[in-house]
Amino acid sequence: MKKQVVVIGLGRFGSNLAQELYQMGHDVLAIDSNERKVQEMLGQVTYMVKADATNEAVLKELSISDYDVAVVAIGTDIQTNMLVTVLLKSFGIPFIISRANNRLHGETLERIGADKVVYPEHEAGHRIAHMQFNPGLMDYMEVVGDFGISKLRPPDHMVKSTLEEAGLSGPRDKYGVAVLAIRRGREYILIPAKDEEIKPGDILIVAGKTEQIGRVHSAPKETTRPIGTATPQPQKVT
Ligand code: ATP
Repeated sequence: MKKQVVVIGLGRFGSNLAQELYQMGHDVLAIDSNERKVQEMLGQVTYMVKADATNEAVLKELSISDYDVAVVAIGTDIQTNMLVTVLLKSFGIPFIISRANNRLHGETLERIGADKVVYPEHEAGHRIAHMQFNPGLMDYMEVVGDFGISKLRPPDHMVKSTLEEAGLSGPRDKYGVAVLAIRRGREYILIPAKDEEIKPGDILIVAGKTEQIGRVHSAPKETTRPIGTATPQPQKVT
């Protein structure tokens, strides 16, 4: 459903987010106190305004209370970021997403009324680290702590094996991960059966501890096991 979204602070995070939301079909108002940042958004969002978001009168003039969602994307200046969050809350915006630099900042934002706190630096660092050090990973999303969901290309030696033969029949199997789906061309096979064969070009969507996901791709060929042998327990992760 189309939403009215206001994004405040057009650094790399805010401007990318604003463009993405606009491309998804939402109405996006982008605000920044820097004229150049505002001009750079020309044609990329629905409306853009050069304004100081700590100015209550300006926010009122922009009918900010009519918006469904607000994103406070100001990063470096924590004081401004919190002040804007409080102001938006006082305008009664139903859902406020605020950007935090660290846990303490994030917890404070939650206490003053942010409905969701995001940590872009932390999240981007995490994703890049996992993808850099696990060459088979095409994407990685942290769900909680060291548990995540990944999109990965299975190593060549797993192709033409069933999930069970490859050690991927479930969280109690060799790799300790769950295969949520196989993407085959344009099709998705959701929760594939353990006798589903991995075909050339398949992409696996798996959930599990990040270290165990990483092992799927780094596993040497001889560690795959034939059908009918006992199922080893997942390895202990320290
Ligand atoms: P990023 O890490 O996303 O690239 P950044 O480091 O470039 O961000 P930040 O300090 O996080 O910059 O600020 C993001 C944007 O917020 C800047 O473009 C800045 O002009 C804008 N900004 C800062 N204070 C205000 C304010 N009071 N009102 C409106 N915009 C503001």
